[in-house]
Amino acid sequence: SGDQKPIVRHPRWIRVNAIKSSLEKQLQTTFSDYVQVESLSKLSGGQTKSIYLDPHIPNLVAIVQNTDIMRSKAYRTGELILQDKASCFPAYLLDPRPDEGLVIDACAAPGNKTTHVAAILSERASNEDGDSLGVIACEKNPARSQTLEKMVKIAGGDSIISIKAKQDFTKLDPESAISGEVTALLLDPSCSGSGIVGRDESTVDVHLPSASASESSQQSKKRKRSNPAKIKPETIEDSSQEDPTLEEQPMPAEEDGVKLQARLSALSSFQLRIIEHAMSFPAAKRITYSTCSVHPEENEHVVMKALASSIAAERGWRIMRRDQQVDGMRRWHIRGWKAACELGQNILDDANICDDAETIADACIR
Ligand code: SAM
Repeated sequence: SGDQKPIVRHPRWIRVNAIKSSLEKQLQTTFSDYVQVESLSKLSGGQTKSIYLDPHIPNLVAIVQNTDIMRSKAYRTGELILQDKASCFPAYLLDPRPDEGLVIDACAAPGNKTTHVAAILSERASNEDGDSLGVIACEKNPARSQTLEKMVKIAGGDSIISIKAKQDFTKLDPESAISGEVTALLLDPSCSGSGIVGRDESTVDVHLPSASASESSQQSKKRKRSNPAKIKPETIEDSSQEDPTLEEQPMPAEEDGVKLQARLSALSSFQLRIIEHAMSFPAAKRITYSTCSVHPEENEHVVMKALASSIAAERGWRIMRRDQQVDGMRRWHIRGWKAACELGQNILDDANICDDAETIADACIR
């Protein structure tokens, strides 16, 4: 009918930024003319708009893809953040606690997960005086560091997040005084991007309001046409800055097998280095590792190698088991693809295959 637009395959996921707003407030304002539906398949656009409240991730909603939301005041002022559901799991499963210590986001730009960690901390701390709210966000790439700074500012995370711009996480000293206070680390390193689906532009892994909060939507529209908010795809190593094979972007389907294996091998060595470095932080208790890849070489294989490393043995790192789950883990049953774990068949609980675009390879606990 004229009222209903066709249902799109990929919904538009939106995280309500708890630093600046609340789900309740957004349902009463930005989404006041939306009707709540019980499943994603019932989402509709047009005049009868609908909204789905995610049952797993707090403050996450889905609507049909449309551009209206990007013109809303709530989006322009950072009350709403466009972030896929899969991308919300790492911070949620890390389960940061304001009374525990500092959190490091090792590979932070553009800052979706950094600001999510900060939002969880600020929500949990609101009634607990004296908690230290600390997220240290490292980003190696200079241009992406600027994007991170911009996102943290828009999201209102300045007082919670300390940005270490142009900082290589693997060069951060785990023995420094501040590192000694780090109890949780979120690792979302560069990857092949092979699991990225439903993106409009392959080079964009960030949705930031392209206008300042005070800019009118008309001005914003005008500016956008001439200067779309695009950022350069990331590269993972200084030495590989010129190597396009290491850029994070959806893989071409016809990529030659040898080239693909070389790329996955380079990426997975780097990813393993990031995890091993995180494991060396003396007070660290939890690590989440995530990629937007569907390749086990970047997911389960990396996690299994990290668990088999000498630093894991020395510090007692192990996979989180069902009986030791933090809150978020209890409500999420997927634990990785058992068949892909070549190095320790019994370490993962289930034979479930993660079917999200962004695979949560696993979480570790000490
Ligand atoms: N977590 C981000 C988010 O959700 O918005 C996305 C992170 S992106 C997948 C990986 C980022 O890690 C890139 O911005 C890349 O420049 C950065 N990076 C790569 N190697 C790094 C290193 N050794 N230290 C710090 N950052 C690094």
